Amino acid sequence: MKIQLLPSTFDDRGHATLEQRLTCFLIDDRVAVDAGSIAIALSAEQRTTVRDIIVTHPHMDHIASLPIFIDDLYPSLKEPMRIHATKEVIELLERDVFNWNVYPRFSDLQNDYGPVMEYVPIPEDGRCKVAHLDVVAIPVNHIVPTVGLIVSDDRVSIAFSSDTAETDEFWKVLNQTQKLDALLIEASFPNDMAKLAEVSRHFTPASLGKELTKLSHNGMDILAVHLKPSYRDKIIDELNELKIPGLDVMKPGKTYSW
Ligand SMILES: [Zn+2]
Ligand SMILES: [Zn+2]
Repeated sequence: MKIQLLPSTFDDRGHATLEQRLTCFLIDDRVAVDAGSIAIALSAEQRTTVRDIIVTHPHMDHIASLPIFIDDLYPSLKEPMRIHATKEVIELLERDVFNWNVYPRFSDLQNDYGPVMEYVPIPEDGRCKVAHLDVVAIPVNHIVPTVGLIVSDDRVSIAFSSDTAETDEFWKVLNQTQKLDALLIEASFPNDMAKLAEVSRHFTPASLGKELTKLSHNGMDILAVHLKPSYRDKIIDELNELKIPGLDVMKPGKTYSW
């Protein structure tokens, strides 16, 4: 499985920078997990192949350019853009984003080929198929309804925490998963901002270090994501101090393969 954290910022030569402002992971050039930078960072080829987007929660850094992406592709879509999300998240997207005020309600619109956007609700048990992937969605602990994910193909399974603070169900399901190849976990704030991390339901390196003791798998790759750009260096220093084997910071723009 090939995963890329799409960049959201570019330097003056147009190269991706390391700061992660928006969240969008691209899997096998086909499925997106969240859509923060989807309209600005996909290649021309990828724009023709991504038709399934899993939205973990409706925060702006995770959906910022989703409406623009559908708008861009509107005349050329030969199948609808499928938005996979929980019922709660779909309701929030319809109420707050695709509401004719912020942007058109694309789920009501058609081009010459048919509907341009379609919601695919994630069932109550969290298990669904998205393109070629088996997905398990697990509610996590954030300030809006949010799911973490385990995404599997025939060979590998990768877990995404999305945005969360201390949680239990997610780790329980991960620990029950036979083989896990990598965990992409959020680490948003430095340790001295623990209070803000707590009220906004995010991790610091210290709280993440504690949280990872709930994970019984050993030896998998653990990639920290969602580092707030203003504190990036500090968060990286504090993550390194944890000395957790296999823990690294995911680089926007780089393609990882498992
Ligand atoms: Zn969030
Ligand atoms: Zn976020």
